[in-house]
Amino acid sequence: MADSFKAVLVDRDEDRKQSVEMVELTEEDLMPGDVTVAVEATTVNYKDGLAITGKAPVVRRFPLIPGIDFAGTVLTSSHPDWKEGDKVVLNGWGVGETHYGAYAARARVNGDWLVPLPEGMSVHDAMAVGTAGYTAMLCVMALERHGIVPDRGPVVVTGAAGGVGSVAVSILSRLGYEVIASTGRQEEASYLKELGASEVIAREELSGPGKPLGKERWAGGVDAVGSHTLANVLSMTSYGGAVAACGLAQGMDLPASVAPFILRGVSLLGIDSVMAPKELRLEAWKRIASDLDHGRLNKITTVIPFSGVIDACRDIVEGKVRGRIVVEM
Ligand code: NDP
Repeated sequence: MADSFKAVLVDRDEDRKQSVEMVELTEEDLMPGDVTVAVEATTVNYKDGLAITGKAPVVRRFPLIPGIDFAGTVLTSSHPDWKEGDKVVLNGWGVGETHYGAYAARARVNGDWLVPLPEGMSVHDAMAVGTAGYTAMLCVMALERHGIVPDRGPVVVTGAAGGVGSVAVSILSRLGYEVIASTGRQEEASYLKELGASEVIAREELSGPGKPLGKERWAGGVDAVGSHTLANVLSMTSYGGAVAACGLAQGMDLPASVAPFILRGVSLLGIDSVMAPKELRLEAWKRIASDLDHGRLNKITTVIPFSGVIDACRDIVEGKVRGRIVVEM
C-alpha cells in the first residue's frame, strides 16, 4: 500500500451538519492535478477558520481538505514549468474551497497555480506572509497604482492586529507611510507601534453607523473589515484618496453613501487574491521579498505544529489570533 500521511478532512452528514477530523490518506486519495507537492508549511487564514467551523460556505465540495495556501517542494510534475525539487508557493485558486487543500502533507494541484518561492525566503517565511500578507501587498500595490504615495498623507489600516492588518502596517511603514492602525484590541497597541504604526485608534471609532462625509483624516486605507468600518473609512478619506477593500471581518455589507465618491473623488479599490492573475502574484511576491522586514515578520508570527491547526482555525474566527500563524508539517 502507498505511504499514508495525515490530513484534515471536512465532511458533512445527511442533515448537512459539518464535521472535521484528522485522518490518514494516501496520494491516491488526492484530486487530479499535474504537480504533486510535499507540503512543508501552511498557515491559518480567517477563511480557513470559516471553512473548518462552517461559519460561512467556504467549503464547496464534501469531503474536502481545507487550507488555502502552502509552501513546499515539488515531488513529481508533468507541468512544463516545474520539476522535482522546485520550491513553490500556492495561494488561492479555489484550493481549500473546491480543490483539496493545504492541510495535508501532500497536495496535488494544477501547476499553473504555483509560483516559485521567492529568492531569499524559506517555506516558513512564505507562510508567515501567507495569503493574508500577499493580500496586504496586493492592497499596497493597488494604493500605489492609484498614486497614494507617502507624501499624500496618512493611511489607515483596519483590523490592524489581524493577519492582513499586521502585514499591511509593516509594509506601509517600511515604505515610509504614516500609518494609523485601527484595532479592537487596545492591548495590542504597543505591538502595532513596534510594527511601525504611528497612531493606534479604537475599532469603535469606525465600527458604528456613521455620516456620509466625515472630517478628512487619511489619504487612503487598507480595510480588512468591511461593513460600517469601510463606510466610515471612505467617509473620512481626503479628496482624491483611495481605499483598498479586501475583507469582511465585521460584515459583508457596505452601509455607505456615494458622497465620498461624488463629492471627494474617493476611489474604492477591490482586492481579490484568489483569482488574481499570475503576473500580479509574481509582482506581489517579489515586492514581499524586497519590502517586508524579516525581523518584523518574525515578531508577528507564531509557529504551531500541524496537530494544532484545527484549534487555531477555531480561534481565528473568534478574533483570538494576533498576527500570523505558521503551521509546520
Ligand atoms: P484575521 O482574523 O487575522 O484579522 C481580522 C481582524 O479584523 C481581526 O484581527 C480584528 O482586528 C478585526 N475584526 C475581527 N472581527 C471584527 C469585527 N466584528 N469588527 C471589526 N473588526 C473586526 O483575518 P485575516 O487577516 O486573515 O483576514 C482579514 C479579512 O480579509 C477577512 O475578512 C478575510 O476573509 C479577508 N481576506 C480576503 C482576501 C481577499 O482575497 N480579498 C484574502 C485574505 C483575507 P483587531 O483585533 O485589530 O480589531
